[in-house]
Amino acid sequence: MNEQKEKRPGGLVIAIDGPAGAGKSTIASRIARKHNYLNIETGAMYRALALKAIMSDVSFDDEAGLMELAHESSIQLERRMDGNRVLLNGENISERIREKDVTDAASRVSVHPKVREWMVALQRKMGEAGGVVMEGRDIGTKVFPNADVKIFLDAAAEIRGDRRFKQQAASPEEQAKIVQEMRERDQRDRSRANSPLEAAADAIRIDSTEMTLDEVVARVEEIIAERQVVSSK
Ligand code: C5P
Repeated sequence: MNEQKEKRPGGLVIAIDGPAGAGKSTIASRIARKHNYLNIETGAMYRALALKAIMSDVSFDDEAGLMELAHESSIQLERRMDGNRVLLNGENISERIREKDVTDAASRVSVHPKVREWMVALQRKMGEAGGVVMEGRDIGTKVFPNADVKIFLDAAAEIRGDRRFKQQAASPEEQAKIVQEMRERDQRDRSRANSPLEAAADAIRIDSTEMTLDEVVARVEEIIAERQVVSSK
């Protein structure tokens, strides 16, 4: 597939998709910082709505109820020196949304087609001027099918579980549980009817199982540089 890429005033749209724990967030934030681009973590947006559902006691299965919440929510990613702050109706929820209950809720809330439609519209608006590294599950397939750079970042499930385990500083006893829950969320992402987690046909796959962070960043930079050469021709 070789669609015509449009030139955007702010720079490229770089899409990074993949399952949890593949290293998307770390890689996306490093690439964004390097290019002075905005790093849009779309997972944080689903997490924000999930938190709102928890706070409002709306069931994760109630699509209409979730949409009511969406319409009364303002979700913003505020760029800071040390990364993004996530604001829900002006309140800083950056840390709260990383907790386990919100992680699980986000995975459930994100299966609803209307919720996804609403998120995708918001994400397109945030990225349309270019100059963004957008990270998620459906960026290259759905949000920006004509993104300038599409990466699908993956890693073996054990490695991804291990990374999450270290991030959460959990006890060894909790490790098996973390891996199991991560697999369940992945399965939900991959099997949902509406924009499931999958690589776009024209995405470049990177398997980070045996790569260091620096190696992955270097590979992504290589891909961006190739893209820039092509687009300046
Ligand atoms: O990436 P993160 O783990 O923060 O995403 C939280 C949840 O949001 C994921 O488990 C996934 O179900 C959902 N998500 C999604 N589409 C995206 C980003 C995240 O469905 N583009």
